[in-house]
Amino acid sequence: MEIRNTRELKQYNKFIILNEIIENQPVSRKDLTKKMEASHATISYIVKDLIEEGLVVETEFMESNGGRPPRLLEFKGSSKFLIAVEIIDQVLWYSIFNLNLELIKKSSFSTEELTAQEIINLSYNKIIKELEELDIDFDKLIGLGVSTPGIYEEDIDRLTNSTSKIWEGSNIKKEFQKKFKLPVYIENDANLAAYYEWAYGAGRGYSNLIYIYIADGIGGGLIINNQLYKGIHGKAGEIGHVKVKEEGEKCDCGGIGCLETVSSIKAIRKEINKRISNGEKSNLLHSHQPPFTADEVIKAYREGDPLSREIIDRAFSYLMNALSSIINLYDPGLLILGDMHDFIDDELINRFKTGLKKICFPNIMEKLDIVKKTDKESNLQMHATAAFVFDIWKKTV
Ligand SMILES: [Zn+2]
Repeated sequence: MEIRNTRELKQYNKFIILNEIIENQPVSRKDLTKKMEASHATISYIVKDLIEEGLVVETEFMESNGGRPPRLLEFKGSSKFLIAVEIIDQVLWYSIFNLNLELIKKSSFSTEELTAQEIINLSYNKIIKELEELDIDFDKLIGLGVSTPGIYEEDIDRLTNSTSKIWEGSNIKKEFQKKFKLPVYIENDANLAAYYEWAYGAGRGYSNLIYIYIADGIGGGLIINNQLYKGIHGKAGEIGHVKVKEEGEKCDCGGIGCLETVSSIKAIRKEINKRISNGEKSNLLHSHQPPFTADEVIKAYREGDPLSREIIDRAFSYLMNALSSIINLYDPGLLILGDMHDFIDDELINRFKTGLKKICFPNIMEKLDIVKKTDKESNLQMHATAAFVFDIWKKTV
């Protein structure tokens, strides 16, 4: 049993009450007291603190049939802000959110030919300029979150196995902190996406889930017992590097025959272009000569091109085998299909269901829901990063 000292207990109670106000706003003190089974004095005492800190405001009087009408409490999420940064291959996106998790501004710049330090300096200058234009004081910022490709190893503060090699040599968290002088949170993109789906998206209400995405790489994130499960080195959930072929191709991670080398969009594109260049027939040749893009290959697949079908079906079969091992191992209630290069539709979800049914434990499959990620246009990763920072900050108020 965890013992909490008075200060910790107060902070914990403050977090619980703030969270309750955010989830149920506008809400009266009386309803909070009832819902939280706490004394009116405790609730009033903490609410007073939250009001004094400018985090909660009292709204107008509520309609009432006689008696003194209660005043309602609301979270003042528009008064503070956070920064979400998304590192992708050779581009850095940065965005400003308020604490209602509304996106205020987003922008990007090319990181090609820049060092990690130059990228951090440039992002700082650009963000400061945006804040000035938006008339937001720097001291209204509560933190900065960074979504990274590859693995972020927290114990050594390094990015490894990343498609963005420029970051690999630097202490990314320390450098961002030094420049911005804010609390900085770094997390791998798939972990952030898994967290967001569990806390705000398609996974709400599930205590265990697996999130996977298939793009040029294959990544995944795990929520186990309502917690993001990262393992000791932050590498948990890396389904893309499960070995599926004994004599396979060399993977970016240094391994041989990883799932990513046969089932990723990049692998599919590479394989079909290689085989067509070696003289195999494909309907793709009706339009032009290779190389073909992933979109073209997927279109050809949907139109029944035999070569595209063979290659994608093989990629899918390897994916099912790797995924079934993880499903049998973790027994999650939900599988969320993340970015699939515009490939997700009902037909694909059904293919996952039937494909997994053949190889997973039947009683696990009976209770496994399969859904696609939350639809948030192109800003999902930014929202995920912002929500992650916000949820950590709430615990520290
Ligand atoms: Zn690998």
